[in-house]
Amino acid sequence: MTSLIAERITRVRQQIPAAVKLIAVTKQVSVAAIREAYGAGVRDFGESRIQEAEFKQAQLQDLTDITWHFIGRLQSNKAKKALEQFQWIHSLDSLKLAQRLNQLAQPLAYKPQVCLQVKVVSDPQKSGWTVPELLAHLPELNQCQNLQIQGLMTIPPLGLSEAEIFSVFASTRELAAKIQQQNWSHIQMQHLSMGMSDDYKLAVQAGATMVRLGRTLFGLRPALNNQASLQ
Ligand SMILES: *Cc1c(COP(=O)(O)O)cnc(C)c1O
Repeated sequence: MTSLIAERITRVRQQIPAAVKLIAVTKQVSVAAIREAYGAGVRDFGESRIQEAEFKQAQLQDLTDITWHFIGRLQSNKAKKALEQFQWIHSLDSLKLAQRLNQLAQPLAYKPQVCLQVKVVSDPQKSGWTVPELLAHLPELNQCQNLQIQGLMTIPPLGLSEAEIFSVFASTRELAAKIQQQNWSHIQMQHLSMGMSDDYKLAVQAGATMVRLGRTLFGLRPALNNQASLQ
């Protein structure tokens, strides 16, 4: 019998092009549900807290081909752990953090992949670069040569109409194209991490290459984050 999670994954896959990477966001989702998604073919998983991810990753060590994506706000003092636990960091939101990650990545045998989190419209609730700040920091970001800067990540502010949300995604794509045209030696802009459960179709229309989906795959998250329920 196919599980509900597997059915939802199939439905989403039918709605997005095969080239768009589906990242299953598993914050507050149990290890058993993660295994179900894995069984349905998902190999990219997103978490927003280091400690919660560590707890689950320890129980999923047999699934050796998972790619883990960090999508939450990253504090400087957790940067080292983030690099140890995640192959991708989507939420790189300041020059200071970029330089810290770059320094920590120096001895590694591989270059961590990152997206720069940007706000094309102002949003006091969210972290991330404003467009002028990001453009001003590109020369220093280009010096972070131990990182693979792969593209941009964005989260539209709450309360926008569909047309406004689409416009946020389209502006983010245009910003990525503009940066790409500047031909930085160590900044690539081929990825756009945008789209969550409520807006991923708009994001894909606007050119997303990675969507980050939680509720539409796993159902509503419980209000409380109780580790015992994550077994
Ligand atoms: C929680 C979260 C998601 C997934 O959100 P859903 O609405 O459950 O799909 C995606 N991106 C980020 C950064 C998140 O924190």
